[in-house]
Amino acid sequence: MALQTYRIEREPFYRPTGDEIALFEAAHAARMPVMLKGPTGCGKTRFIEHMAWRLGRPLVTVACNEDLTASDLVGRHLLETEGTVWQDGPLTLAVRHGAICYLDEIVEARADTTVVIHPLTDERRALPLDKRNELVTAHPDFQLVVAYNPGYQSVAKDLKESTRQRFAALEFGYPAAGIEADIVAREAGIGQAMAARVVAVGERSRNLRGRGLEEGASTRMLIHAGRLIARGVAPEAACRMAIVLPLTDDPDLRDALAAAVGACF
Ligand code: ADP
Repeated sequence: MALQTYRIEREPFYRPTGDEIALFEAAHAARMPVMLKGPTGCGKTRFIEHMAWRLGRPLVTVACNEDLTASDLVGRHLLETEGTVWQDGPLTLAVRHGAICYLDEIVEARADTTVVIHPLTDERRALPLDKRNELVTAHPDFQLVVAYNPGYQSVAKDLKESTRQRFAALEFGYPAAGIEADIVAREAGIGQAMAARVVAVGERSRNLRGRGLEEGASTRMLIHAGRLIARGVAPEAACRMAIVLPLTDDPDLRDALAAAVGACF
């Protein structure tokens, strides 16, 4: 089968924070395009990996960026010794063979790239390959999922209304403290009590949001700190390395974050 390498063989650990699994299953059953909204590092990618495994679908992931062209998604002709050969891009592969296609950080993609997904997200469920003069009808199992971080929103980098309105959305945030401590303990390999302290640092950093700090520490950062602690680094030094220094260059904010760390250990 064409997408064998995109199959997820082992269950990715995912700790639900609400009814997102059931809601996604319903949207998948309807093959509805879904947008995962939320800040960076809060579990969106892990969730879709878990869902692809749970639903038994291959997962094709594309990290979007401003240099990503429509051809990067759809495919292109390659010059070979025997002439030109067409190579499907990741989106076309997913459309033809019935995968979930996950476009991460969709707002980073240029508007002309984003519009190629439009005919896939309405009744047509088709992808026109203009350069090849082909209209690929989506495999019945194909589903489009995009991730979107509303925090980075700026007029220049926002989803066009005509794109936005094609998706159902699930909202993600940082999990409640108890759940986040479970996740950090498990992913970092540290005890529950230590994980709870690291999570407390995270919560304090999130309270500094809007007071100079663009974003608080993500779950991913807290796991980094936990992994350093698991390797014998003292907790305060681990938090400085994994949370305080990466988060900000501003000396006052660093002091505020360091004080938050000091209060938790
Ligand atoms: P995003 O895609 O939102 O930027 P990720 O899905 O990559 O973030 O999450 C970062 C890390 O946090 C994951 O690799 C995973 O270790 C952990 N994580 C976050 N939320 C959860 C969760 N609910 N269950 C399990 N792991 C989680």
